[in-house]
Amino acid sequence: MKKQVLTHYPGARSAKEITGDYLSQLEEVHGFDLENTLLATSICVDDINVSTEFRQIQDRPFIMGGLGGVPFVGRTGMAAYAHHIPEDGYAFIFYGPHIGINSEGELGAIRRKGQSGDSTCCGALALALQLLKDPPEESDESEDEVLAAYDYQESRLLKVLQKNKAELQGSEHPIREATELIYDHISTFLNQLIESGKKEFRCKKIALLGGIILNTDHGKEDYVDIRDFTIIDNT
Ligand SMILES: [Zn+2]
Repeated sequence: MKKQVLTHYPGARSAKEITGDYLSQLEEVHGFDLENTLLATSICVDDINVSTEFRQIQDRPFIMGGLGGVPFVGRTGMAAYAHHIPEDGYAFIFYGPHIGINSEGELGAIRRKGQSGDSTCCGALALALQLLKDPPEESDESEDEVLAAYDYQESRLLKVLQKNKAELQGSEHPIREATELIYDHISTFLNQLIESGKKEFRCKKIALLGGIILNTDHGKEDYVDIRDFTIIDNT
């Protein structure tokens, strides 16, 4: 499985390795007290992501992510998270979109538990790509309204992709390209939410770890391609 993953993401490491490595960096290099650290995640709601997050070591995460991993909790959610951190404690936010790589090395698909065929991963991003390719009839305005009202999160993913339509259509692997675009969107949005809500944080430091989560077939190890690791000193 490692070979298939590294073909597409040469810098990826196993989720287990990433978890151990960054928790020890937080503790030993940046002086975090992990007992007084509140974890938050901004990753996709997909059930397969549980194995990849830091929840294995730190329970009780504050969940910011909706479909695709976008922090849909907004300013209110960021302020709530800031208020829940232990006094004189630390904040640690793990974020990013996810993409499947099956045993044949195909991008955007995996075999899930109890299923005989592959399914899309990230399914929400795959659907947004599909909607971009085959948009609802232009004359039917209600389609857009329905999407915004009953499928708000999906409509937001579609909007991000629409801004980069030409780039996506010319791409060899549109799902990979879409994942990169959503990563940038999550990263920018999270940093804006922290910046605008900075006075809400009374903790010592805020750590941000972002990457692309690489899910594999059921029973196989997951990987992460880390993109950003930032420490904000709040003292
Ligand atoms: Zn997803």
